[in-house]
Amino acid sequence: MNLPALESARTALDSAKAPDARRAAREFVAQAGRDAAFQLESCVHCGQCADACHFHLVSGDPRHTPIYKLQPMLKAYQREAAPFASVKKLLGLAPPEVTAEELHEWSGLIYDSCNLCGRCTLVCPMGIDIAGLVRLAREGMAAGGFAPADLYKAAERALDTGSPIGVRWPALKRQIELQEEETGLKVPIDAEGAEYMVVLTSIEIMGFSEAIGALARIFRQAGASWTIPSAGFEATNVGVQMGSREVAATLLSRIVDAAERLKVKTVISPECGHAYSALRWEGPNLLGRRYGFEVVQISELLDRFVREGRLRLRGKDTRRLTFHDPCQLVRRGGLTEAPRRLAGAVSANLVDMPGSGAASFCCGGGGGVSAIHRAEALRFAAFEKKKQQIEATGAEALITACGNCRNVLEEAIEHYGMTMPVLGLTEMVAQYLEPAQPIDTERRAG
Ligand code: SF4
Ligand code: SF4
Repeated sequence: MNLPALESARTALDSAKAPDARRAAREFVAQAGRDAAFQLESCVHCGQCADACHFHLVSGDPRHTPIYKLQPMLKAYQREAAPFASVKKLLGLAPPEVTAEELHEWSGLIYDSCNLCGRCTLVCPMGIDIAGLVRLAREGMAAGGFAPADLYKAAERALDTGSPIGVRWPALKRQIELQEEETGLKVPIDAEGAEYMVVLTSIEIMGFSEAIGALARIFRQAGASWTIPSAGFEATNVGVQMGSREVAATLLSRIVDAAERLKVKTVISPECGHAYSALRWEGPNLLGRRYGFEVVQISELLDRFVREGRLRLRGKDTRRLTFHDPCQLVRRGGLTEAPRRLAGAVSANLVDMPGSGAASFCCGGGGGVSAIHRAEALRFAAFEKKKQQIEATGAEALITACGNCRNVLEEAIEHYGMTMPVLGLTEMVAQYLEPAQPIDTERRAG
């Protein structure tokens, strides 16, 4: 473990505990580099992002307009760093300083009413990456002490225990043992030189641990060597969600250390949207170096195995099914085809939601929103748009490729009194694998 980085992440968290609007403003300005500043200045106020955001669509509240959520960051930038800012300040023409009251109010806009889903980014005619800017604005909010208390607590737990909900190795070990009993297959732990290292999320470990048994069966049939690390197994990255690069980098470095210690070729990002963004897209920038391994999302790998004939499927689910596109995989991560193709390989009657794929609505819990208790009512309200998409299909069950989406969808479905199972894609693939031949079991297990 990198102790100086851990200490620096703890210090950053501790120093953020007392809210300080000037510290937040300084960080807003630091984040508004040339590219972000150019984007902040480019808005033509067309309002298209408002019509794309599920929070605005269900509430009609103008404060839920995506670009409006960036007002404090824009003000700080215009006051301190925009062209002629110092002249405007002298002439009294600069915007006033952002205040603590303002930032407390915006905490609800920047965190509770934004899933970082990127639907607004998709429609902006000026090409402004509003979701990316909200992500940057969260750096200022977190540094200034204005992030939700639930996220600070989750970050502390993640630094102390490795998991935002306190799942330590003995708990994972127990789940692995149960899955080994269930499947009769050995799950390799800390296997040096394995081709694939799988990381997991706390949600999967505690809520959907069948995914571990599913992976054992899949890797056995694919004939691929794999392992789970006993340290650095947690893929969730609350640092990315709350907006703390120090926390994000420390959590990421645990996975990178494990992969490099075990000399694996590929790290498999699990069924989790933001973990994929954090590990594959943000990680090298946060750590300031390239990885010595490849990062592949699990549905991308399984799709590849099926197309290469390394996974042989038999039978399909005959129910009317529909696929929920996790925003960070599909819209922000570019993984549009692989999960849907895979879902199609195990479903005989897969129907797309209207506006599926890159234009799909978020489940309402992404971007850390599901971890913010005060945001629960708003999250359920925002689910209304997803609900309409689901109901238009007449589907009997939902498939998805993100454990957080799965959890959030299950809660919202229950909240609305709907009856619809939510299925994990990896488990479905494992369910429809051709039964293993005894000789395969011996030759390829482990
Ligand atoms: S990223 Fe998604 S939730 Fe956030 S403002 Fe844009 S559309 Fe709304
Ligand atoms: S869609 Fe783009 S240009 Fe239009 S209001 Fe939103 S941010 Fe501004």
